[in-house]
Amino acid sequence: MREIGHFIGGERVAGTSGRTADVFNPATGEVQAKVALADVSEIRAAVENAKAAQVKWAATNPQRRARVFFKFVDLLNQHMDELATLLSSEHGKTVEDSKGDIVRGLEVCEFVCGIPHLQKGEFTEGAGPQIDMYSMRQPVGVGAGITPFNFPAMIPMWMFAPAIACGNAFILKPSERDPSVPLRLAELMIEAGLPAGVLNVVNGDKAAVDAILTDPDIGAVSFVGSTPIARYVYGTAAMNGKRAQCFGGAKNHMIIMPDADMDQAVNALMGAGYGSAGERCMAISVAVPVGEETANRLVEKLTPKIESLRIGPYTDEKADMGPLVTKEAYARVNSLIGKGVEEGAKLVVDGRGFKLQGYENGFFVGGTLFDNVTPEMEIYKTEIFGPVLSVVRAHSYEEALSLPMKHEYGNGVAIYTRDGDAARDFASRINIGMIGINVPIPVPLAYHSFGGWKASSFGDLNQHGTDSIKFWTRTKTITARWPSGIKDGAEFVMPVMK
Ligand code: NAD
Repeated sequence: MREIGHFIGGERVAGTSGRTADVFNPATGEVQAKVALADVSEIRAAVENAKAAQVKWAATNPQRRARVFFKFVDLLNQHMDELATLLSSEHGKTVEDSKGDIVRGLEVCEFVCGIPHLQKGEFTEGAGPQIDMYSMRQPVGVGAGITPFNFPAMIPMWMFAPAIACGNAFILKPSERDPSVPLRLAELMIEAGLPAGVLNVVNGDKAAVDAILTDPDIGAVSFVGSTPIARYVYGTAAMNGKRAQCFGGAKNHMIIMPDADMDQAVNALMGAGYGSAGERCMAISVAVPVGEETANRLVEKLTPKIESLRIGPYTDEKADMGPLVTKEAYARVNSLIGKGVEEGAKLVVDGRGFKLQGYENGFFVGGTLFDNVTPEMEIYKTEIFGPVLSVVRAHSYEEALSLPMKHEYGNGVAIYTRDGDAARDFASRINIGMIGINVPIPVPLAYHSFGGWKASSFGDLNQHGTDSIKFWTRTKTITARWPSGIKDGAEFVMPVMK
């Protein structure tokens, strides 16, 4: 059986802990490889390599650091098909969708090509007599990233690109469910000119994460995954004196106002609800039509589209969506659909029992639609992370607005309307991080920042955009005086500018 190891000190190395996890082909259900699970000593080896490489890398001028990313972006484009196919083979999503995963990471690499400008400090001439004041943004040192299975290219790049561009060295701990693409990315970074040791990839589970969170030489930790683990990582990192930004789960609503273009809204819901089999933190999992008539039209138009979704393995170029990532995910989503039925929601389209000829053991769940879902139901409260859309009928705009407002999560939300007043009011009042106005998956582009509110995010700086430069650097402020010819006496009061 193929064994997937780590990438430490500029090369692939085998795992030494003796512990491994299965990597599936989600379309067939077969175990295709074993991934090594690191122990403390392997994390330590990566940190030692990173520490040794970081000092010289931080002293490399920013233009040269940027050039590595210019070359890396080129290499990503050259290797796009290979990377996307590798990604799909472990994740299960369609190859076109995997290209989107890579491109959204590539765009952050393009953004950090501007690091000479982005990392510039500030300067005030003459802040006092013969006094100049300036601040510099210096790297944190060694940073770490812990990433989820659902975007195995994009999220690692969201983390390591700004961290490394700012002069840090980096330890990436990817998801053990689809570990191959992060390792390829590290190889391509070396090919792009990154010195060995600056980017290390260590595979593992909780043991590796705990080793990162308690390692005294790691200064900052970025995490993306489910909310309970995000909360745990945030607390543990902070207790160990580390800077941390931790992004968690989601339950994203889409409000459909009576005046919305219904065809546009339905198409948006299809892509945002079922693309990537619903395994996106920005997937829409709750549709909130306002008014009975809007709700009836919505469900009537959605139903045949969901029933005719094309579901297939990643090798099917025409598939709309693929299987779920693991057998556990498959069992969990099926059981939550059962729970919805028990709770009294109306199951309009049932995706359980979907079987694809030739792929009978694959982790496929068909598109599923619930109507008449209420806020008390488990299927409304829980992030299902599968191809399941719930319709919650609202009688008014205020009632619709109150649903995402009261929900535990606050990642993304969308409103479909032609009424500018309603859209503006919605964007202003809602307590959620990313808002789409007639846009179903409002993932901001690389030069804005990405992050949710409430239980979707712990910490105070977001991913990419200028926030990421702040997160991966520390500010140092210098007050300098060159008092030629001035003779000072001692001053015992708090110095103020006179
Ligand atoms: P997960 O929480 O199971 O795993 C995320 C990472 O944490 C992995 O690297 C995993 O190895 C590690 N991990 C798992 N259990 C751990 C434990 N007990 N202690 C320490 N580390 C542990 O998440 P997942 O299933 O890989 O990803 C799906 C989740 O990620 C969903 O909830 C989704 O909404 C969320 N997500 C959020 C965002 C965002 O930006 N908010 C983006 C993508 C995914």
